[in-house]
Amino acid sequence: MMTHEYIYWLIIFLLVISYVFEQYLEFLNHKSLYSPIPECLQDIYEPSMLEKQRAYHNDYYRFELKHECLFFFITLIVFAFQLLGKLDIWLRSYIQHEFLLTLTFFSISGLIAYLLSLPFTYYETFIIEQKYGFNTTTKRTFLTDQLKSIILTILIGIPLLWIIFHFYSSLGEYFWIYAWLVVLAFSMFFTFFYSKLIVPLFNKQTPLPEGELKDTIRNFCFKVNFPIREVYVIDASKRSKKANAYFTGFGKFKRIVLYDTLIEQLQTDEIVAVLSHEIGHYKHKHIIKTFVLSNVQTLFTLYILSLFINQKEIALAIGTHVPSFHIGIISFGILFSPISTIISIGFNYLSRLYENQADEFSFKNNQSDALIKALKKLSRTNYSHLTPHPLYVIVYYSHPPLYERIKQLSRYECHTN
Ligand SMILES: [Zn+2]
Repeated sequence: MMTHEYIYWLIIFLLVISYVFEQYLEFLNHKSLYSPIPECLQDIYEPSMLEKQRAYHNDYYRFELKHECLFFFITLIVFAFQLLGKLDIWLRSYIQHEFLLTLTFFSISGLIAYLLSLPFTYYETFIIEQKYGFNTTTKRTFLTDQLKSIILTILIGIPLLWIIFHFYSSLGEYFWIYAWLVVLAFSMFFTFFYSKLIVPLFNKQTPLPEGELKDTIRNFCFKVNFPIREVYVIDASKRSKKANAYFTGFGKFKRIVLYDTLIEQLQTDEIVAVLSHEIGHYKHKHIIKTFVLSNVQTLFTLYILSLFINQKEIALAIGTHVPSFHIGIISFGILFSPISTIISIGFNYLSRLYENQADEFSFKNNQSDALIKALKKLSRTNYSHLTPHPLYVIVYYSHPPLYERIKQLSRYECHTN
C-alpha cells in the first residue's frame, strides 16, 4: 500500500472508532438513568416527575441516536468516496485565485453541514423542548437567531480566515506562530467585549433593579470583599425556562450575569448562594487561567496543523492532487481528533476542579445550605440526569455531578441505598 492509502484507511478508521466510542458512552449514560438515586437526591423528583424526567431523557436519547447515526454515515460517505477532494478538483477548474478557492470550499462544505443540522436544531427546540414545557422560543426568534449567527460567522470568520491564509502563503514554515498571535488577539478581544458586543445581539441585559435582592447581594459582596459595580439580568426567558448564572470577562470588563429565569425560580438566599459560587470563580482567577491554558492549547494545535498542510500524501488521501490550506485543515480535523478528545477530557477535568473550588468558596462563606437548595431546585426544573455514568462524566462533564457537589458542600457521605 502507498502512504496515502494508509492515511485514507486511518481516516476511515478514526471516523468509525470515534463514532462507536461516543455511542457507547451515550448508551452507558442512558442506562444509568435507571440507577438507584442517592439518598441525598431523593427529594428532588416526586414519582410522577421522575417518570417525566426519564421520558424526557429517553426522547433525547432516541433523537440523538438518529441524529448522530445520520451524520456519521454522511461523513463516512464523504471521506470514503473522497467527495471533498472531488469538490476541490471541480472548484479548481473555475477558480484560480487560491484564497478565493479556500473561501469557496469552506463556504460550500460549511453551508451543506449547516443545512443538514438545521432540521435537527428545529426539532430539538420545537418538538422535544416544547413537549416538556421548556421551550419559550418563538418561530420568529428562532429565525432571527439563525440569521444573526450566520452573519456573525461571516463577519468574524472571513477576516480571520483571510489573515491566517495570508500568513500561511507568505510566511511558510513559521506561519503557525503568527497565526497564533492573530487568534490570541481575536480571543482577547472577544473575552473583553463578549458582554458588550455579542450578547446584546441576542439578548437584553439590564442592571438588577433596586430592592431587597440587590441590597442582600451588595451586603454579601461587601462582606467577601468583591468589588462589584453591577449585577446584570439577562432575558433568557425569551428562549427557554431553564435557569443559570455565569461570570465573564476579566479586569474592568468582568461581569456577573443572572438569568431572569433564575431570579424567578429561586429565593433571595438561594440567588446569593449561586452568586457566591460565581464570586468563587473570580477569587480563584478561573477565567484568566482557562484563557491562558486554552491559548497554549491553540498554539500546540496550530503547530500540529502546520505539519499537515502541504503534505501531498494527505491531499491524495482526501482525493485531490494539490495539497492546500483547506485540504490540510479538513484532514487535520479528523487525524487530530483522538488528541483533541484527550485535550478536552483534560479541560473538563480542570473545569470540574474549578467548580469544586468555587463551591468551596461558598462553603467557607456559609452559603452551603442555600446553594444545595438552589442546585436541587435547578436540577428539578431542568430535569437533570441525577446518576450520570462515571465514564460519561470524565469525558463530557464540565461540572461535577450533583451528588458529588452536595457531598462536598455538606461534608456528608451521600450513599445509594
Ligand atoms: Zn461554576
